[in-house]
Amino acid sequence: MYIRGSFFPILVAAGMATLNVSAALFAEHEICIFGNDVLRKKAEPIKKFDDALKQRVERMFRVMKATGDGVGLAAPQIGCSEQLVVAQVKMPTLPEDFPEEQKEALQKEISGLSKMIELTDHTGKATTFDDIVQFGRFAFANPVWKPVGDTKAPSREACLSLPGIMAKVPRYKKIVLNFQDLDGHPYTLQCDGLLAQIIQHETDHLNGILYVDHISDLCVVGEMPIWEVFPELYEQMKALKDEVLTKNKVEESRQEAEQEGREFKSSEKTFWISEKNKEKALAIIGKIGGEDHMFDYDTLLPQSETANNAVEAKSEAK
Ligand SMILES: [Zn+2]
Repeated sequence: MYIRGSFFPILVAAGMATLNVSAALFAEHEICIFGNDVLRKKAEPIKKFDDALKQRVERMFRVMKATGDGVGLAAPQIGCSEQLVVAQVKMPTLPEDFPEEQKEALQKEISGLSKMIELTDHTGKATTFDDIVQFGRFAFANPVWKPVGDTKAPSREACLSLPGIMAKVPRYKKIVLNFQDLDGHPYTLQCDGLLAQIIQHETDHLNGILYVDHISDLCVVGEMPIWEVFPELYEQMKALKDEVLTKNKVEESRQEAEQEGREFKSSEKTFWISEKNKEKALAIIGKIGGEDHMFDYDTLLPQSETANNAVEAKSEAK
């Protein structure tokens, strides 16, 4: 869901429109955008653990792959109003100028995750992490979590349903999750770190909650490719820029970078919007999805990749 670094961290948690039936009506990489009713609905519990469910999960992973930095996705984001989320915790795609010396720390943080996880299956028997997790991919059906302790920490988050912005969201550091796998077997998982943050963000989607509901100020990340596609919407956002807040946040980021011993780069294109303009800013984000509140992320993909995906989809159809 996010990248820590001097570049503005990008946490992308993606998710589609109302389903349970309609998934096939959407283009392969189409995502429901803020303003789409399905994002505010409470999702239905999963009762059928069939091949169609597994196919929806595979598609969710393909969406995350196509969008590059996605680390989590909830079924409502792809238009399926059902209690299903996926997460992928492995090395994300990094900006080309991401500092070499920070890569190792990031890798360690992400690959070290398995050591922080305790897993118990429905029989109460301890199960190895690898039994459930392949290549850092998780699919959770009917997930319900509780915090372990009351410590919260800020999590940098973004969402494919709210393109172009990010914010720091307070999330519990450690949680315990009950869920079912894709065959319907119940499990309990205790985790912290990135996976715990992803689960909190994605399960919110199942209850019609978006990360922006938890925060007051939001950050418009000018470098995000979406703004190249919608320059006029970027200008509308810029009219809401809070100069003082932006100055303070840049200074805060600079100090954080200093404390963490990393290089700090500020960007002219990135700025903050304060709470009083939050609703206006979100309404602008909503325009990205047009009248049907959907956005096809293929628009952001290089042509060659789009072509490859088409070939892939074609061969799968066979
Ligand atoms: Zn999200």
